[in-house]
Amino acid sequence: MKALDELTFDNRFARLGDAFSTHVLPEPLDAPRLVVASDAAMALLDLDPAVAETPVFAELFGGHKLWAEAEPRAMVYSGHQFGGYTPQLGDGRGLLLGEVYNQAGEHWDLHLKGAGMTPYSRMGDGRAVLRSSIREFLASEALHALGIPSSRALCVIGSDTPVWREKQERGAMVLRLAHSHIRFGHFEYFYYTKKPEQQAQLAEHVLNLHYPECREQPEPYLAMFREIVERNAEMIAKWQAYGFCHGVMNTDNMSILGITFDFGPFAFLDDFDAHFICNHSDHEGRYSFSNQVPIGQWNLSALAQALTPFISVDALKEALGLYLPLYQAHYLDLMRRRLGLTTAEDDDQALVERLLKLMQNSGVDYTLFFRRLGDEPAALAVTRLRDDFVDLAGFDAWAERYTARVARDGEYTEEQRRARMHAVNPLYILRNYLAQNAITAAESGDYSEVRRLHEVLSKPFEEQAGMEQYAQRPPDWGKHLEISCSS
Ligand code: AMP
Ligand code: MG
Repeated sequence: MKALDELTFDNRFARLGDAFSTHVLPEPLDAPRLVVASDAAMALLDLDPAVAETPVFAELFGGHKLWAEAEPRAMVYSGHQFGGYTPQLGDGRGLLLGEVYNQAGEHWDLHLKGAGMTPYSRMGDGRAVLRSSIREFLASEALHALGIPSSRALCVIGSDTPVWREKQERGAMVLRLAHSHIRFGHFEYFYYTKKPEQQAQLAEHVLNLHYPECREQPEPYLAMFREIVERNAEMIAKWQAYGFCHGVMNTDNMSILGITFDFGPFAFLDDFDAHFICNHSDHEGRYSFSNQVPIGQWNLSALAQALTPFISVDALKEALGLYLPLYQAHYLDLMRRRLGLTTAEDDDQALVERLLKLMQNSGVDYTLFFRRLGDEPAALAVTRLRDDFVDLAGFDAWAERYTARVARDGEYTEEQRRARMHAVNPLYILRNYLAQNAITAAESGDYSEVRRLHEVLSKPFEEQAGMEQYAQRPPDWGKHLEISCSS
């Protein structure tokens, strides 16, 4: 275990120089205090969880103090936002404080979001409000616990600093951890500003630090792009299988590591709805739940365009062609497991599609359906779940196919089936209304609800005594909450 002043820095991105980022100091928050910290994330830095409660912790992550070895930098990037190219974005309110490595030799970026104005703030104030900081914290740790690749969050620091959004709120900072903060938009920036030297420097940096195994391949850059395609296909398959809607899949929010990144108006589905749009500024539904799959490919094509100086167009096209089949294979594999199936049959895809249609038409809770399907033997479970469906004949036909499919599936006891299904079907997910309850309490100074919710979501597959209220469908007020982009 390390004390806070024992972190070992190695600021590899800062060393790329001023073409890539600008030195900026964090702007401190008034009266910084700990809202919540993640023990699991503390462990990634070998930090004793108890240090989160010390005043110096809130001072460090509230922008008052800095390690002598930290080199805070605002990164420059660009990106396609809602399909259109924005030539310059960058860290407008976040700073890469530095990179540390832990005892296992893993490097982690420490990124402080809400740290004040930078040269890339454009019209913004450089701040993040408590509400959005709590949402990012809860989501990143909850996704990780579900097995969905994501940036991590160490803590949220609250404050008295007033911040204006639609109304007056309070500023906060969230400390984000990731092996890299490089986005598709970094490559686009150097490509469209025609800076081939820096672009090559960036590509070498990513290849050496994050895809070293691709060096062994005959065409290392192509191998790296293929790997990025594969990781994105797998990440998005997991989003779709678990009902996660990102909301702002602009290329500046896409990580070159294939992890979920930059949380805004995201949501987990309550009722299954393929057309769900979680971002109320997304009038055309570009980033609706089901569109996430083709948008994943669109984003990879935008990255491919930026890589044309290094890789032939034909090879890039071929690599892009891997995306959809890989996505489909991962998705079907996950959905089979969610249905408790251990073997593969040709009709499984149709079985899944039919179920989703029925759920869509009846507004069935996406998470609880799968959980309950594993509670009991298949024939009993479908009888009990039947009441949630409007099209009873349709459901009966599906249930008959499903139970016959389960009977053909393999030899295992009911106990084994239940354990296997419960290990992939969460009981607790970050429903918008649960996040909203925690935020409302935190805004009035009570952080216990955020902490409890974070705890519950850190073991989403384990039934936890006394936590029944976190496994409920939303009450009427909590359905289809509109989450604004302002954060
Ligand atoms: P986002 O939609 O949060 O991914 O942000 C898009 C761009 O706007 C990024 O360059 C952000 O750094 C910037 N940005 C968002 N909010 C603010 C803010 N309050 N102050 C300054 N820049 C911001
Ligand atoms: Mg962003």
